[in-house]
Amino acid sequence: MWTHEHDELRRSLSRFIDAEINPHVEEWEAAEIFPAHELFAKMGRLGYLGLTKPVEYGGSGLDYSYSVAMAETLGRIDCGGVPMAIGVQTDMATPALARFGSDELRREFLAPTVRGEFVACLGVSEVGAGSDVASIRTTARKDGDDYVINGGKMWTTNGTQADWCCLLANTGEGAVHKNKSLICVPMKTRGVSVAKKIRKIGMFSSDTAQLHFDDVRVPQRYRIGEEGQGFIYQMQQFQEERLWAAANAIEGLLGCLDTTIEYVRERRIFGQAVLEQQVVFHRLAELKTEIESLRALTYRATELYIAGQDVTELASMSKLKAGRLLREVPDACLQYWGGMGYTWENRVSRLYRDGRLASIGGGADEVMLGIIAKAMGIFPKQLR
Ligand SMILES: Cc1cc2nc3c(=O)[nH]c(=O)nc-3n(C[C@H](O)[C@H](O)[C@H](O)COP(=O)(O)OP(=O)(O)OC[C@H]3O[C@@H](n4cnc5c(N)ncnc54)[C@H](O)[C@@H]3O)c2cc1C
Repeated sequence: MWTHEHDELRRSLSRFIDAEINPHVEEWEAAEIFPAHELFAKMGRLGYLGLTKPVEYGGSGLDYSYSVAMAETLGRIDCGGVPMAIGVQTDMATPALARFGSDELRREFLAPTVRGEFVACLGVSEVGAGSDVASIRTTARKDGDDYVINGGKMWTTNGTQADWCCLLANTGEGAVHKNKSLICVPMKTRGVSVAKKIRKIGMFSSDTAQLHFDDVRVPQRYRIGEEGQGFIYQMQQFQEERLWAAANAIEGLLGCLDTTIEYVRERRIFGQAVLEQQVVFHRLAELKTEIESLRALTYRATELYIAGQDVTELASMSKLKAGRLLREVPDACLQYWGGMGYTWENRVSRLYRDGRLASIGGGADEVMLGIIAKAMGIFPKQLR
């Protein structure tokens, strides 16, 4: 699967991160926002925002292994918020539009998003509906040639800066898996408001918003694909989101391990280096093995995905494993730093805070376990 083109992508993106992102991370973390338009315009010019998007809309038309290579490399960024915001733009808010959107819609929304002129966000979760996506309440009612949208979205990454939202709304009555549509909603439309920017325990540089939609009128031609297929499209879109999240975890986890090894090699207690305690070097060796298992699982899922197979089970396993390791690895490493691990600026303590999201966002660990159990045929029938 991996070629020298993947290596070149990893090398050039690493150079970009070193020059254009990492020097600003501390400032963006402190400001609790990063300049999405400025950064995305630079990334768009270099082609990073459309690796897998169709060539007709400014993308490179590459297979999904390139997104995985990019997600992995973005793990070298010194915080979780900026890579997450980039992932929303490339692999969470845009896959359904790229695959099912009309030509007109892709020219209007996808092409400028690939160029980095538009910032995108994904509006699925609501105050009363997160894990249970089918129970969302936001509606888009037909009126003439328009939809009139009412409701609200919660936890919207990029929400305070976005130019448009890939919005999941109920467009009809009937079965909850067949009554929804994805709609491109320009954020400057009258009736769209950012209710609040949410303060969080991590991912500081990424803005997270609560959005309100109050009689928001958009043309029906802004719907992505067929009416009533939105839930299905979103579940497909989640496959890429979950593979992306798993790949993005790997470098951060390895970096956490490496910086800890450097520290415990030097730090001496009771006359010897902390690293010389068997319990410590055994644990670090165990964790490295776990991270490499995550990499192997994610690559296997990617390989099958680009071969056209259904990887719901493997993508869910990858996301689950990433969430688990993002809790386990920084927690173990932080312990070996002692008091220094409990300080704010420490890279390990940042991953401890930022990484906690991975077991919740984009489908909680328990949701992944339910999907895996269904694929295994062991999910009890009486449970939905
Ligand atoms: C920083 C951040 C950024 C986000 N960005 C976006 C975004 O850009 N767009 C978007 O649409 N959403 C976004 N989300 C929302 C995220 O996807 C949801 O938080 C997630 O799906 C969980 O939903 P919830 O928070 O409503 O938790 P709930 O659905 O209330 O679940 C609470 C807990 O219940 C447990 N649980 C859930 N289901 C089961 C089950 N079947 N069996 C057993 N236990 C279960 C889990 O432990 C879960 O954590 C973001 C969230 C955060 C925190």
